[in-house]
Amino acid sequence: MNSKIDILSLDLKELSDFMLELEEKSFRGKQIFRWLHQRNVISFDDMTDISKGLRSKLKEKAIIQNVSIVEKLVSKEDNTTKYLFQIENDYIIESVLMKYEYGNAVCISSQAGCAMGCLFCASAVGGFERNLTAGEMLSQIYEIQKDIGERISNIVIMGSGEPLNNYDNTIKFLEIINSEDGLKVGHRHITVSTCGVVEKIKELESLKLQITLAVSLHAPNDDIRQKIMPVAKKYSIDELILAAKEYADYTKRRVTFEYALIKGINDSVECAKELAYRLKGLLCHVNIIPINDVKERNYLRSSDKTVNEFCETLKTRNIEATIRRKLGSDINAACGQLRKRYLKNTD
Ligand code: SAH
Repeated sequence: MNSKIDILSLDLKELSDFMLELEEKSFRGKQIFRWLHQRNVISFDDMTDISKGLRSKLKEKAIIQNVSIVEKLVSKEDNTTKYLFQIENDYIIESVLMKYEYGNAVCISSQAGCAMGCLFCASAVGGFERNLTAGEMLSQIYEIQKDIGERISNIVIMGSGEPLNNYDNTIKFLEIINSEDGLKVGHRHITVSTCGVVEKIKELESLKLQITLAVSLHAPNDDIRQKIMPVAKKYSIDELILAAKEYADYTKRRVTFEYALIKGINDSVECAKELAYRLKGLLCHVNIIPINDVKERNYLRSSDKTVNEFCETLKTRNIEATIRRKLGSDINAACGQLRKRYLKNTD
């Protein structure tokens, strides 16, 4: 790891304080912040209104630890592009750009690899490598913006990794991306997805941010959930749903529950009824995702009929539900298909 200051992960206050440490005026902090977060430069030399003297101090003491594009896969089926980014240590992480009528949305990774071990997810296959810094999370968005020459208006932290286990960096990311002197993406345009780290949901709730919380539920009870998600052995479904309810009560934001339908495991009408019963009265929305292929696993997708029946069973019980369109599966860019790799072994 580099001992220099990771300048892309500093918020405006920290950057201004850093200027004072360098015996510069603190307003230089804002200037540099804007170069990094609005104009997305990745070299101090490009900061043309900063004196040469300060630029050389910056080079000596700090680095811009950005991610860089190694490969881009464009879906032939829809408007989805998967980006493979190299991070420090030569690991590769993945992000997905989705173009919608309302704007450009990006799904970013919060960790290289993932430690949560959900049995149906590709991100779990190679295990956990490391947390991404706030700067590396931001940089995924900045590099995609530069590549397409358009603004990113919506962000989902739903790529590989468990954002709530990289809590501080995720919060820092949310602060910087929302900053007046940064990209200014409103929190209402950001979703954070968790497999259900209950104490962190509570911590997040106390910040009262306007982000959307997505909870990967995938089962209506502990029995089934424990079979497919190791985290379910740590927190019961009751605790998790209660935390989600508190989150909705506190923030007045509708919580999303993700439910990947796996043939014969969690897709029966009985499961849908049990789920509806548990979610009754909660300000929420269920996102039904027919499970996507992960080559190391042999879980199967439910038939269209089963998927529709599941959705209808929820709706007739007054639970809002939609079936998520599958995007980018020809380039392994759909939910649960993102994985980490090592640069020297990118098969
Ligand atoms: N760790 C976070 C965010 C990353 S996973 C979380 O668990 O929410 C993003 C979403 O994709 C989660 O809802 C996850 O459960 C889902 N997912 C994982 N594998 C999948 C698969 N094979 N098909 C469909 N969705 C999957």
